[in-house]
Order: sequence, then C-alpha cells, then structure tokens
Amino acid sequence: MDALNFIDGHHVHAREFVDNLEPATGRPCGKVASSDATDVETAIEAAQRAFPLWSRLPASERGRYMRSIARIVERDLEKFARAETVDSGKPITTSRTLDIPRAIKNFDFFADAATQFGSESHANESSLNYTLRQPLGVVGCISPWNLPLYLLTWKIAPALAAGNTVVAKPSEVTPLTAHLLGAACAEAGLPHGVLNLVQGLGPRAGAPLVQHPGVKEISFTGSTRVGQEIALACARRLAKCSLELGGKNALIVFEDADLDEASTLAVRAAFSNQGQICLCGSRILVHESVRAQFTEQLVAKTRALVQGDPLEPATEQGALVSQAHLDKVLGCLALAKSEGGRVLTGGGRARIEGRCAEGFFVQPTLIDGLHAHTRTNQEEIFGPVATLLPFKTDAEAIELANSTRYGLAASVLTRDLKRAHLVAQRLESGIVWINCWMVRDLRTPFGGVKESGLGREGGNEAMRFFTEAKNVTVAL
Ligand code: NAD
Repeated sequence: MDALNFIDGHHVHAREFVDNLEPATGRPCGKVASSDATDVETAIEAAQRAFPLWSRLPASERGRYMRSIARIVERDLEKFARAETVDSGKPITTSRTLDIPRAIKNFDFFADAATQFGSESHANESSLNYTLRQPLGVVGCISPWNLPLYLLTWKIAPALAAGNTVVAKPSEVTPLTAHLLGAACAEAGLPHGVLNLVQGLGPRAGAPLVQHPGVKEISFTGSTRVGQEIALACARRLAKCSLELGGKNALIVFEDADLDEASTLAVRAAFSNQGQICLCGSRILVHESVRAQFTEQLVAKTRALVQGDPLEPATEQGALVSQAHLDKVLGCLALAKSEGGRVLTGGGRARIEGRCAEGFFVQPTLIDGLHAHTRTNQEEIFGPVATLLPFKTDAEAIELANSTRYGLAASVLTRDLKRAHLVAQRLESGIVWINCWMVRDLRTPFGGVKESGLGREGGNEAMRFFTEAKNVTVAL
C-alpha cells in the first residue's frame, strides 16, 4: 500500500515518492509521498479555509466528528494494526492491544474534554476579569515513528477539540496508519481541510511547516536534536511550540522491592517495542545488596523473550524500525563494549529464519560494568539495550538517576511508601512511576524536564496549549 497525502478531504499524490521498507524483511512494502513546500502550502491553505467553520462549531459537535473517527478506527482495528506492524516492525500484539486502542482513546478522551473545558474568572472590588481560551487557527503537529498513530493522534485530537484546524506530518518511516486515518476522516464526514496529513521527510516537508507564518503553533515529538532546531525556528517568528523529546530513563530497584515483580517490570520497561519508546527504562539502577539475585532473574527473563516475525501474535520482540536505526544501535553496542561494558545477554544482531531473514533485528541486550558517565549511560540509544548500575544509598540512587541531560521518566520500585514519595520528589524527571511503568491517565500533564522537552500536554493542559488566552476586564 502506498501512503498518500490527505489534503482538503482527499487523498492526493505528491510529485515525488520514496520507498517505504518493511523492517521485518528489509524489502519495500510500498511508497510514501515525499511532499515539499508546495504540498505543505496547499495543506495550510485548506486548513485556513476550514478554520472559521470548525472553530465556530459547538464543542459537542466537534466531539461528534471525533467520536465517529474513533469508531471507524475501532471497526478497522485489525487493518490499522497490520499496517502499523508492517510499517514499524513492532509486534502485532502490541499494535492491537496498545497502539491502536490508545489512538482511539485519544479521540474519545478529547471529544469529552472539549465539552468540559473551562477557563478562569477573577473578581475584585472594581472589576471582573475573565479569560477566554480561543483556538489559534492552523496548528502544525509533527510526530515520530515509534508509536506512529498513538503519538500522532495525541496531538491531533486536543488540537481539533480546541477548535483548531491541523496540518500534521507523520514520520516518513511509518506513514501507513496516517494514510488510513485520512480515509477514516473522509468516511466520518469531517469537514474538508479540518485535518490535513502531509507525508514526507523532515527537512523537505517538516521544515516548511515549522517555518510557515500561517501556522500558529507547532507540537513536536521526536529527538532532542531536531526539537532544538524546531524551537529555534519557532523562536524566530515567536510561534508557540511544545517539545516531547528523548529520554535516558532510570528504573530504580531498592533492596526492599519484590524482586520477582521488579525484574518482570524491568524487562517490560527496557524492551517494550524493542526499546524504542521514549519512556523505556534503559538504565536499571539496583541496590548492591540484591544485585546478584535481581540480575539473575533479569537475565533469565530477558532471554525468555520471544523474538520473531512481528506479524506472529506470539512475538514479543520484533524488528528495529530501519536499516539506519539498526546501524545506529549496533554502533552503540560496539561503543559499550569498547567502553568496557560486560554483555550479560544479547549483544548483537539477531537472525530470524524464513521471511524475516534480512530483517533489522537486534537481540535484547543487558550490559553491566559501565560507569554512569560513559557515553553508553549518557546518550539515548532507543533500542533493546539496557545497562545495570549498582548503588548503595538512596542519595546515590537519586544522583545516578539525575546524572544525564535528560529528564523524561523514572520508575521507583520499593515497598517503603515514605522512601517512594521522598525519592519521587527529588528526581529530575517529568514523570515518576512508583512500582509501575508507562501507566498513563490522560488527565495528567505529560512530558519531560531538562533536555527531554518543553511544555506539558495532557488533559486540560493539552487543550490549553492549543488555545490563546485572552483576558477580558469588565469595570464594576
Ligand atoms: P526525529 O526527531 O528524527 O523525527 C521526528 C519527526 O520530525 C519526524 O516526523 C521527522 O520527519 C521530523 N523532522 C525531522 N527533521 C525535521 C526538521 N528539520 N523540521 C521539521 N520536522 C523534522 O525523531 P524519530 O527518530 O522519528 O523518533 C525518535 C525520537 O523521538 C527519540 O529521541 C525518542 O525519545 C523521541 N520520542 C519522544 C517522545 C516523548 O513523548 N518525549 C515520544 C516518542 C519519541
């Protein structure tokens, strides 16, 4: 299947196309539109035309369209899950049970949130001051490849709910679910131009969207390097931007944790989606006194992960997303070894027989014996590679957890309630999970501190981000 643009209510071609490769086989599975500034301009003009009508619709009416889209994706869940697996190499069970259901939930959640959205009023002796939160106009949403539909809709849904029209650029590496979403919007009768999807490469299709004066705001999820470029481009024209960026997250196992539960959780946190989730716990900090016992369990559970064809329902570890990413992760493994790391399990490319013989697979890998300040422990790998770091005191655990330039998420595993809350307060991290990982309530703010991001999207805050606050003062 080819991935086309969806502009002004229709699928349309771009002048050029690039190959879309299936990561599990390394072979082309279709083509993706390689849009340029002209396509972006067309999409922005369509969104501008649609804005007056869409922004004036009652919130409940906007919500009705969004729910219709959600029901179509739900009906076609299998088609979406298969497309995502072919596109990304992730296990189809993950697409079926996590990615696509979450994308559906994004639409449903913000359809409701639109009708509950409030703003403030402050009265004093002489005046009444109230805040109007008005939609901005056309907003730009740029998303990465690791959770293609889930992260795309996490931006699109609050933007539409708040009354904006959208031009979104999905990742060129995983364009298929966005293509299908376009068809779902057409079937739902979404007014033309309200949501436009422009496929293509970052510098060719993403940059013109970021630089366009008609785009009031950019919501970006992706790498810290590109996020910094986008922040600069937005700063030049004083456009609002929110950035959800990389992570090097710590999972801290205290000596009083349930080690069986902790090792199961650590495997999930480190290797879900082949370690290609910004929230993955890629640095596992473990108390010295339980290190041997915990490591033994961790290694055994890592070795038990089922790696294979992502289209097989039993597969737990699929392929990495691209040849380029495979090369990057293999380079990180070579670096870890050259820095003195001891490979406890994994450590190289995995060979799968049959259809997937040429696929981009890497063995889930655990590495021990590296100092916290090595590049391996400082830089985001974004693959199935986790390191183990021992600690002796709570203070040392906190210092290790905070020792990178990132600050996205952290997990604290302990039975001691007081310790859990104290440690959570001192972690430099936008999200802290206590005895869990990647649990999300969409009403809470989401995002990182330090170089993991700027702005918090979630619930009311996400809706607010997509509005302009206007103060109105009435003399009394
Ligand atoms: P990336 O930064 O390479 O690309 C992200 C998106 O930006 C893609 O759509 C890409 O085409 C586009 N892009 C690239 N250059 C651009 C430019 N100059 N102008 C405009 N757009 C441009 O990231 P990726 O490799 O797709 O995704 C992996 C990264 O995303 C990891 O660092 C991961 O941690 C991060 N991520 C963060 C979160 C979060 O919520 N914090 C979630 C998922 C992924």
